Amino acid sequence: MSSDQRTKAIRAGLNTDRSWNAVIPPLSLSTAYRREDPAIQPAFDYARTGNPGRSLLADAIAELENAAGAIVTGSGMSAIDLLLHDIPHGARVICSHDAYGGTRRLLDARGRGGRLIPVYVDTTDLEKVADALNEDAALIIAETPSNPRLRISDIKGLARLARNAGTELAVDNTVMSPVLQRPLDWGADYSVQSVTKLLNGHSDMVGGVVCCADPERVAELGWWANCVGVGAAAFDSYLALRGLRTLPLRARAQCESAQEVARWLDADPRVARVDYPGLTSHPGHALAARQQDGFGQLISLELAKDAPDPRAVVSALEIFTLAQSLGGVESLCCIPALMTHASMSPEARAEAGVADSLIRLSIGLESAADQIADLDRALSVA
Ligand SMILES: *Cc1c(COP(=O)(O)O)cnc(C)c1O
Repeated sequence: MSSDQRTKAIRAGLNTDRSWNAVIPPLSLSTAYRREDPAIQPAFDYARTGNPGRSLLADAIAELENAAGAIVTGSGMSAIDLLLHDIPHGARVICSHDAYGGTRRLLDARGRGGRLIPVYVDTTDLEKVADALNEDAALIIAETPSNPRLRISDIKGLARLARNAGTELAVDNTVMSPVLQRPLDWGADYSVQSVTKLLNGHSDMVGGVVCCADPERVAELGWWANCVGVGAAAFDSYLALRGLRTLPLRARAQCESAQEVARWLDADPRVARVDYPGLTSHPGHALAARQQDGFGQLISLELAKDAPDPRAVVSALEIFTLAQSLGGVESLCCIPALMTHASMSPEARAEAGVADSLIRLSIGLESAADQIADLDRALSVA
């Protein structure tokens, strides 16, 4: 098979149907699979353990990530949680201080029960991570680019620190997808992501995936996924495989529009600051250019002091729907402090640089000219 991401994504799972020679793999909703012999384990047995469509999706994502294998789960959160099942009780888990609000909520909740000790560190600063590793840690979870401030952490540098400290590195690759960044190529042990976002891209299912560098970990985490029952549903897997076929084209077009929108915002006096790794003024620009294959489709911004109230601006936008998700073909906007990151304490948000007035844009596939015109109008009428 070709090493080209476009070819891999389009050809994934085609012509695998042995019942009717369907070109597109069929949707198999059956819970149970008939055995020829009670003593012989069939390829598929029971749907919690395995489903043909889910398995094709896992193979497709693993191929795009250059992974040994992948486990597809029912959400991005259950994918992150899957990594926590077999760490020692009470172990320290180091996590990017500005990670997705749900990731912090999960680690904090597990921390309150004594299952683990969350340690939040600015993972863009390798010295701070090295300091945190002076004490044993079971896992590092780095989100890069981080959501919503789009800070860039050095995956290769983090992987080296993890290896030297005898720990493992997981990268939350949700904002990029395997088309724009392949963390395992830089030495990470796991690439986790929310399939709900850019990977599926059509905002009509919820799913997650853990891609592993080590085939043994694929088997171990697959065992846990079956044990606790977090494998993705058949229909959601079907939709995600369908969405994934156009991922390389969508991601490319969304990056191009985001670059145009970010440049326009950056030049507008009503905007005080734009966070977009594609701008040369972004502190992570050079690193992003090195470890990513594109700058992504997320943009965050702060309005100038005398500009309208950000709540009025997001409410006045029409091409950007006010809704909390990202990565879809449709443009969305949100105020993270009130929406995606509302579960974080105000102190944690302040530490992560998520101001109450921060606006996040997810750039979809409408024309960039229309996206810019919408922003221009909303900034004037609000
Ligand atoms: C959305 C998101 C998640 C959680 O994924 P779900 O599919 O909503 O469970 C995790 N990490 C990041 C960076 C996200 O944006």
